[in-house]
Parts: sequence; structure tokens; C-alpha cells
Amino acid sequence: MPEGHTLFALARDLHEAFAGTRPVVTSPQGRFEAGAGEVSGRELLHATSRGKHLFLEFDGERWVHVHLGLIGTFTVDAREWTAEAAAVGAVRMRMATDEHVAELRGPNLCAVVTPEEVTAVLDRLGPDPLRPDADPDRAWARISRSGRSIGELLMDQAVLAGVGNVYRSEVLFRHRLSPFTEGRAVRRASWRLVWDDLVRLLPLGVATGRIVSVEEQVLEVEAALGRGERPRLTERTSAVYKHAGEPCPRCGSRIRTQVVAGRNLFWCGRCQRRR
Ligand SMILES: [Zn+2]
Repeated sequence: MPEGHTLFALARDLHEAFAGTRPVVTSPQGRFEAGAGEVSGRELLHATSRGKHLFLEFDGERWVHVHLGLIGTFTVDAREWTAEAAAVGAVRMRMATDEHVAELRGPNLCAVVTPEEVTAVLDRLGPDPLRPDADPDRAWARISRSGRSIGELLMDQAVLAGVGNVYRSEVLFRHRLSPFTEGRAVRRASWRLVWDDLVRLLPLGVATGRIVSVEEQVLEVEAALGRGERPRLTERTSAVYKHAGEPCPRCGSRIRTQVVAGRNLFWCGRCQRRR
């Protein structure tokens, strides 16, 4: 499933391509025909994301709310690169100007909503580490009261918006936290380290299109971006995610996996031992 950094980059790309234009919006597949008709020809004011949710604001107080879910994709291309005939698969929403075309396929949700409905969605979401105004104490208020495990809490979008299965496993590994520690047993200082780390890591995901969480790679990407260069990602970018059965890069112990909050969690049984 795309995590917050993917949605953030997508909102940025959509905004750059369409803000200030009046795209023709259609639903080639037909399932968003009425909604497309409502926004087609209106000016697109903003494209923004919050966590895994994407919002397209059109004039006349009409918003398109998109959630990609597990398999959804949203592509943004310059028009000359995309022949009309190349539109393969079921396109739920297509947005086109003379210069750009964007195609949404297989989303979990694509609907025209009111400003009040947008506010209601935002109110249900926890802070998003990619937003400069995000308040980590809002997440802490929930974590510190919870008997659920931190591995489960990090996946709960009402606690924290944007973190998914990969960042969850990786950030807990980076801070030697057992994913099975109850929220109320996590120290506030540990939580702040996790939050600050997500604030550091997620923008690298936006910049590279990949989740980079192995410290040497993190430093390399930060240095490349600092020099204004395109970072090269050739080495392993995750420490534990999808490395079950392999030796932990820190202690050599076997990396384990188990389903937590519906997805495979990865951790090291030795250096993330429960305290
Ligand atoms: Zn280890």
C-alpha cells in the first residue's frame, strides 16, 4: 500500500500539473461518471494530501477525495508522452488539459465531497509527519493511554497519518523498540525520537520515491539532496522490512515476521527485545 510519502509526492505532481487550469474530467470506466461531471471544466485550486488521503479542490467548493487503498495508482504525465490509446485498464478518473493527463485506477475511494466532509476526514486523522504544522503530542495523547502495541498503533491512521507497514517496521528497528510494547509503556522521550525520525525520513521518501531507512543510505541521500544531486539508491534501503529469516544488520540475530494490524511486521528478536 502506498504510504504518506507517495501521496505527498502525488499531490505535489498533480498540483504542479493542474493547479490554475480547468481540466476535462471524465470516468472512462464509468464508475465516477456523475462525480467527474460535477468537477469537469472547473478550476483546480489545490491538490493536497494528508496521510494516505488525497484531496483535489475545485472552485465552487467541490473536492475530490481519493484513497488509493492497496492497489490504486494515480499517474501524472505530460500529454505528448501519453497517447490516448495507451489508456489501458479501468480508468476511474481521468483529468486532462492540453499539457497534462492524469489517470486514476483501482482506488479504494474516489468521490466528490463537500468542504464539511473534508474537515470531518481531516479531524479523524492523526498528525502527518510530512506537514510542518503537525503536532506530535496529538499522537502521544493516544499512544500513552493505549493498551495496544506500538506496532499496531503506528498503523492506525487516527493515531498517526501516513505511516504504513514499511515505515512502521523500519522506524521501530531504528530505535530498538519492540513492536509489542504497549503504547502506555512507551516512554515519551522514545516517542519523540520516533516522531523526529519520521519527520526526517518521510521527506527522503518523497524526494526519492522509495522508503530509505538504513542509516548509511539515509546519510547518503541527505548529502546528495544537500548538493542538489539526484540520489543513487543501489544498496539495500530497508533494514528489516521483507528480510525475514536473514541476519539482523545490527546484531546478526534472525529477523522475524508476524502479522500485526493485518500486515506483516518485521523485527529483530534480539535488539528489539521487549523491556
Ligand atoms: Zn538485531
